[in-house]
Amino acid sequence: MKITDTGAAIPPAATISMANGHAPDLAERPYWQDQPCPAWCRVVVPHQDHTPPEDRFHMSPIHDVTLTLEAADVFRFPDRTGGTVLEVSPSFITAGLLQGWREREARVILTHAATHDIELTVAEARELAEALSGLVRQAAETAGGAS
Ligand SMILES: [Zn+2]
Repeated sequence: MKITDTGAAIPPAATISMANGHAPDLAERPYWQDQPCPAWCRVVVPHQDHTPPEDRFHMSPIHDVTLTLEAADVFRFPDRTGGTVLEVSPSFITAGLLQGWREREARVILTHAATHDIELTVAEARELAEALSGLVRQAAETAGGAS
């Protein structure tokens, strides 16, 4: 077997299967992971044998939206001259998928300002997405069709 730069072993080509029409799973999975990652999984640190049970989940890329109608987070702290240094961070909301390695379905996680999580099932997220799409469409029609 070949070993990659990250230390992951790659099986010889002859042992790679295309069963079920899916692309071969090139990287060996940790002992606890009995199924390949969902196609959307992009964990920053690859799943490994020593990953503790509470960290065994699949995670999608995070979508980030800056919220201009919300108050920004303002941090004030004294500098060396006794003045105040301000650090301003726009408020934001993120959305991503998360699925525990033994869970049957992903959930959508909305996070506001990196502090408040709202977890939705895929069906709930679809309902919310359809409601938002409808509202955006109505607002665009009111604004003269701009989208
Ligand atoms: Zn994964």
